[in-house]
Amino acid sequence: HFAKEKGRNNGQVYDPAIHYNEREHQILLELKQAIKREEFTLYFQPLVTEGTFEVNKAETLLRWNSEQLGHVSPAEFIPVAEKYGLIVDITEWVICSAFQQLNEWDKAHYIIQSLSINISSVHFQYGDVSHMMEKLATQFDIDPTRIEIEITETSVMKNIDEAVQALHKLRALGFRVALDDFGTGLSSLNYLQQLPIDNLKIDRSFVQHIDQDNKKQVIVETIIRLAQHLGAEVTVEGVETKQEVDFLQASGCNYLQGYYFSKPLPVKELMDRYQAKGLV
Ligand code: C2E
Ligand code: MG
Ligand code: MG
Ligand code: MG
Repeated sequence: HFAKEKGRNNGQVYDPAIHYNEREHQILLELKQAIKREEFTLYFQPLVTEGTFEVNKAETLLRWNSEQLGHVSPAEFIPVAEKYGLIVDITEWVICSAFQQLNEWDKAHYIIQSLSINISSVHFQYGDVSHMMEKLATQFDIDPTRIEIEITETSVMKNIDEAVQALHKLRALGFRVALDDFGTGLSSLNYLQQLPIDNLKIDRSFVQHIDQDNKKQVIVETIIRLAQHLGAEVTVEGVETKQEVDFLQASGCNYLQGYYFSKPLPVKELMDRYQAKGLV
């Protein structure tokens, strides 16, 4: 505390750790109020079926517009929520809102048939996600096979035993499992045989300029083959250019996702853009 005062007053000491903690502290304080103040919204990014270019699936992405802090990225606030246990309430809000949205789309005969939802595997330490998801799926009349739970490879590795157990439980209820940001975790491939995986999402770092990069091509082709052997689908994330799309056409992946097709959109914009048939 003293160091902070000193740093502020004489302008000589700058401690990035203190600066970070201050920001973290602010985020924590505001995050505690965010649900009550209705500061969260869900955006949806379409996933495009390879080959037909149809859209019937979307990824749910959380957005926070804080009264005090303005827009804060999930990449910044999710880790804070994880650290202080707020992630449980946030996940519940996300799942409840996503199921409710899908239920409304069903009533309107909208094109989106399945949703993927990001879940922090840190959550598994705090509570039983499967019970909550089962309850909400019943409440909103959602068949669990239409819901894919996205877990990042990195977060799985931090809680491997709990993650394996929780994911098997969710899968037994019918929910699908996607491994997100695949290829970025510092992991042995050993855990792949323990995890039930329906979809491997190849991280966008392997996709950027893939049309010009032979090493990336080899890596992506190998991941796709691995996924096929595991009986999993493949989604390629972060597709930004026509050249990348063209290259990925014949690669054997199942879904393409990225700014080339669409950024994550609020509900109204999504529905304006993809009206009846869902073709890009
Ligand atoms: P993610 O699950 O890997 O989501 C993909 C991220 O990449 C999103 O960032 C999306 O906007 C961005 N993206 C999509 N296409 C492109 C592209 O073509 N180029 C580039 N450069 N980026 C693209 P976003 O929405 O900021 O989310 C960041 C991360 O925060 C997510 O990564 C996910 O791990 C986490 N997150 C988001 N929403 C939630 C949530 O509801 N719960 C939890 N636990 N985590 C969430
Ligand atoms: Mg994701
Ligand atoms: Mg990802
Ligand atoms: Mg990511």
